[in-house]
Amino acid sequence: MTPLVDTHCHLADSRLDAELDEVLARAAEAGIEKIIAVGAIGSIATDRRTLEIAEHYPHIFAAIGVHPHDARNCTTERIAQLRALARSQKVVAIGESGLDFHYLHSPVEEQEQSLRKHLMLAAELDKPIVIHCRDAEARLAAIVREEGLPAAGGVIHCFTGDAKAAAAFLELGFLISFSGILTFKNAGVVREAARIVPDDRVLVETDAPYLAPEPHRGRRNEPALVRRTLEVLAEVRGADFHGLAAAIAENSARVFRIVA
Ligand SMILES: [Zn+2]
Ligand SMILES: [Zn+2]
Repeated sequence: MTPLVDTHCHLADSRLDAELDEVLARAAEAGIEKIIAVGAIGSIATDRRTLEIAEHYPHIFAAIGVHPHDARNCTTERIAQLRALARSQKVVAIGESGLDFHYLHSPVEEQEQSLRKHLMLAAELDKPIVIHCRDAEARLAAIVREEGLPAAGGVIHCFTGDAKAAAAFLELGFLISFSGILTFKNAGVVREAARIVPDDRVLVETDAPYLAPEPHRGRRNEPALVRRTLEVLAEVRGADFHGLAAAIAENSARVFRIVA
């Protein structure tokens, strides 16, 4: 079976953590060989639990940070805690950070400050940054242009913009990751963008427990379902499933610096 990678999911979320062994068994059955687990939602406890999971399973790696919804939590103390956790070999990225002007759960100013702190931390630790961006593509690109993308690069996760936004992020050096949203009926704009991302810059993810792909939309998502999004991504790009899966495995190994 072609090895698949779920490059972004939230295993510390209680909906997945409560039955983690079963979730991971189903992922293994579906051919998912590597998982990037992202903390960031809520308090440092989520980052700690995410890292604990990554340290327990050889094929799971962690990204730690402060989600833009919780940007107010991005205090000097939290950054120091993240820096300490990042000493673990299993921390392969900083994030998810970014801007969410759709939900605006945090004020714009706090989100922007948090994003700048994450870009600086990623640069300092020489790790890639994982970016969440919703209805804020132009502002996000402007801030990355000002601060600079960390040398280790970055990923725009769960891309929801159009082809023009994708082109701008590619020009800045990002990889672009597609989630179950790609499979939604009303996501024609995202599918158009998915066609212009080169083979060596594309990733795929579940963002579980959120955003289950069709025909599972509305239900709890889990890493096994990354296979479904990859099928649709291959179809949209007119690509061979196995070839695309291999390219994505290579891309994720390169950006997260994990052995393919
Ligand atoms: Zn996100
Ligand atoms: Zn996420």
